[in-house]
Amino acid sequence: MKKILALAALSVAATSGAFAQAFPSKPITLVVPFAAGGPTDLVARRLAEAMRKPMGGANIVVENAAGAGGTIAATKVARAAPDGYTLLVWHIGMAATTSLYRKQTFKPLEDFDYLGAINDVPMTLLGTNKLNANTYRDFESYIRANGGKLNLAHAGLGSASHICGLMWQSAVKLDKSMTTIAYRGTAPAMNDLIGGQVDVMCDQTTNTTSQIEAGRVKAFAVTTAKRLDKHKLLKDYPSLQEMGLKDFNLTIWHGMYGPKGLPADVAKKLNDALIAALKDPEFIKSQEDLGAIVVTDNRMTPAGHKAFVASEIAKLKTAIDAAGQFAD
Ligand code: ASP
Repeated sequence: MKKILALAALSVAATSGAFAQAFPSKPITLVVPFAAGGPTDLVARRLAEAMRKPMGGANIVVENAAGAGGTIAATKVARAAPDGYTLLVWHIGMAATTSLYRKQTFKPLEDFDYLGAINDVPMTLLGTNKLNANTYRDFESYIRANGGKLNLAHAGLGSASHICGLMWQSAVKLDKSMTTIAYRGTAPAMNDLIGGQVDVMCDQTTNTTSQIEAGRVKAFAVTTAKRLDKHKLLKDYPSLQEMGLKDFNLTIWHGMYGPKGLPADVAKKLNDALIAALKDPEFIKSQEDLGAIVVTDNRMTPAGHKAFVASEIAKLKTAIDAAGQFAD
């Protein structure tokens, strides 16, 4: 009898070990909640490339599931099988949407297994080239005078561009707010800003740097507390704090998640590969060139990232409540 039990125990151990060893045995899908070609898509695709080798050559494919500021994709991943084959790369929306959407379809701290943070990304306040302003001061007075006639583009309620626009408009206390136009991501919004169909946007440096450099849009300021003095191009733009918006400080971030209930060994394999990718000099440089920065070691861990998101939820709730606009 004892022998049979021992054999049974051995075979259980062998099965779960075999599962972990076999993972991944088919392509892993990284769900991105915004349009292809935009800033979150870019991070996810670079990360997929960098994780491939540490995952033993695994095939990691990106799926764009845009809509509702990222909440459609997040709901999809929260409800997927927790086997490690469906993962989410999302940004600050993971923390913001819970205060913005009164009927949230998932719980950010309960419905996911956190795999770690990826990067911090500053934002830039932009205008179309047709806008009659060249400096931040001109821009602010132009918006004050003409705000009611202008359009502000963003990537949906709870997107980074939406939060930034909301915080900036509430910080400068505009009398007439701009009309907002929601896109499926800032990639299509950027096309319209370049074309002059929309007037203003606040977007991540990972999407704006090359457009500013090519002179396709006008940049007025960065959203970080201090200017980005180490970046060859962005160092020339003042921070909003420098321009008198006391305490304005917005840096967005990305993280990686799986549905709640991933097998521990699968989660560990994914986190190990994520950390290896974040330490890859090529990945680090790809981020720095675009003004972003890979997170510090403590935030690369599941627990470190989860604690950070919890603190962001509290911080953003205050900002969103102050702006007083919600999605029902
Ligand atoms: N991250 C979004 C995108 O990739 C933009 C945003 O959140 O503002 O399009």
